[in-house]
Amino acid sequence: MPRKRAREIRVNEAWCKRCGICVAFCPTKVLAADPGGVPRVANLEACTVCLLCELRCPDFAIEVEEAPGERQEAGAQGSRAGEPAGEEAQHVEAPAHAG
Ligand code: SF4
Ligand code: SF4
Repeated sequence: MPRKRAREIRVNEAWCKRCGICVAFCPTKVLAADPGGVPRVANLEACTVCLLCELRCPDFAIEVEEAPGERQEAGAQGSRAGEPAGEEAQHVEAPAHAG
């Protein structure tokens, strides 16, 4: 299974107190503090969406948005009106009239 990826990491600069916790806790060094101490995304590709930065931020100032995964492709061909969304199981309907 491919690992998760981030589409975007947003920092609310009004809430961020430049404590550097998110930068320190990120296991893959996605974040780096700018000269003013505000975390910047240095390497978005490396983000595994572990959400440690979100969880550790004392001020809820950082938010990670996950990129849509490849599991979307599985549902792309068979979406039909009237069928409940999010149903994992697939069933094959027998043709009602043959000939
Ligand atoms: S979600 Fe995890 S990998 Fe991504 S920036 Fe936050 S701490 Fe780093
Ligand atoms: S943990 Fe939160 S408050 Fe601290 S630098 Fe990161 S975003 Fe800013």
